[in-house]
Amino acid sequence: MAEKLGVYVCSGCGIGEALDVEALCNVSTKDGKIAVRKNHAFLCGEEGAAIIKGDIESEGIDGVVIAACSPRVKVDVFQYDPPVFVERVNIREHVIWCHPANDEDTQMLAEDYLRMGCARAQKAVVPEPYSEEIDKTVLVVGGGITGMTAALEAAKAGYEVRLVEKESALGGMLNKLHKLYPKTPPYRDLEDTGLEARIKEIEDNPKIKVFTGTEIEKTEGAPGMYDVTLKNGETLRIGSIIQATGFKLYDAAKL
Ligand code: SF4
Repeated sequence: MAEKLGVYVCSGCGIGEALDVEALCNVSTKDGKIAVRKNHAFLCGEEGAAIIKGDIESEGIDGVVIAACSPRVKVDVFQYDPPVFVERVNIREHVIWCHPANDEDTQMLAEDYLRMGCARAQKAVVPEPYSEEIDKTVLVVGGGITGMTAALEAAKAGYEVRLVEKESALGGMLNKLHKLYPKTPPYRDLEDTGLEARIKEIEDNPKIKVFTGTEIEKTEGAPGMYDVTLKNGETLRIGSIIQATGFKLYDAAKL
């Protein structure tokens, strides 16, 4: 909830040719608590960005309303440390790119969007993240080549991994294959499956704990805080789940 608002209107990207930027900048808001109103021809440029930063420091602004382009662009330019709240009002894509230039209704539309942006900056509350409760353990369901690769890559990225395989050993379909199709140039010879080396890599990795001969009984909770119960009775606290449960061969007789 910003107490002191700064409103900045950009006239770049054709906005200045399509709207009365001066009038837009001075738009009246319901409770009129706007401390600074400025417009600039290139708000995302060095000078424009410095003006906003300077006002935050010197005027104590805690809410910045920027009427310019889409909030999806220039995110890095218009980013300020908390508690400064940023509200982007999209008068480029949502107003001047899709409505006639220098038209009374187009101007009113931009002004309404700006009023709504100011109201949001004054009333919105930034929610507190639940970061302490979030668990980052990754559950991989399925110990075939896909699941094993996912488990190893997640562990390499620094995550704890729980790998569940319903059979008594890892490997999945690879256990049934003698060789694999050629994967390296000159693509003439069949290749080893590399299964044993892959399983050893999993077993040697301290971040990966393997559960074989069991399946998922039930999953409760939400992303970041799942409680997953296995058929062997164990319950795991899990942050995210990778489903790698394999495939069934298609019945070619149907073709
Ligand atoms: S990209 Fe956005 S901030 Fe930069 S000049 Fe265009 S409308 Fe203004």
